[in-house]
Amino acid sequence: MSGIKDIADDFLSLFLPRLCLACRARLVTGEEVLCTECLVSMARTDFHLRRDNSLEQAFWGRCMVERAAAFSVYNRGSRIRHLIQALKYDGRKDIGKIMGELYGSILVRSGFMDTIDLIVPVPLDLMRQKKRGYNQSECIAAGIASASCLHVRNDILYRTGRSGSQTKRGRYERWENVEGLFAVRSYDVISGKHLLLVDDVITTGSTIEACVNALAATGDVRVSVVALAAAQKLTL
Ligand SMILES: [Zn+2]
Repeated sequence: MSGIKDIADDFLSLFLPRLCLACRARLVTGEEVLCTECLVSMARTDFHLRRDNSLEQAFWGRCMVERAAAFSVYNRGSRIRHLIQALKYDGRKDIGKIMGELYGSILVRSGFMDTIDLIVPVPLDLMRQKKRGYNQSECIAAGIASASCLHVRNDILYRTGRSGSQTKRGRYERWENVEGLFAVRSYDVISGKHLLLVDDVITTGSTIEACVNALAATGDVRVSVVALAAAQKLTL
């Protein structure tokens, strides 16, 4: 029967082609989200399998992070960069959910999620969220939640004020820019819990650092971090 179904799926895809999210090639039976070539060639960090990986080391001395992992490596021309840019700037919320589900299922299978209690996305600047209509980290978090059967809380962590664009700032300036900009509400919900903080890309780690420090200031919480991608310099 599955053979007939495969033939039927392939036949239907002639009319409604499912396309690879990264390269737009037509997906064939057995491929989901990304074509085999993109899946194979997308640089994976596999950080979820390695304690003390270079992303975790990037937070040493800055904030208390239990574990940190990123699905892929973010650099100029990388396939994950195309996906994340479409997620952020082309209204493609579905990419966040789908990639979150894909990465979430990898994390679940490896045991990375075993002690996580609650998923918390990094909040977006309110003005930017209003303009974009959504927070891409919430989309990714929703995908990870669906793969792991955990809950997401979008209301725990919030921004206290508006920060300027960070794209042209150096690391020190970025830290100045984000420190103190996050705060936490509903302490009782996170007390004693292990939280999974979710972001789209980790470039310097300063946003994560500020979020983790805001969460840690409430006392009894542990925080792990995941993102769809991390800048190449954090993954070497
Ligand atoms: Zn592809």
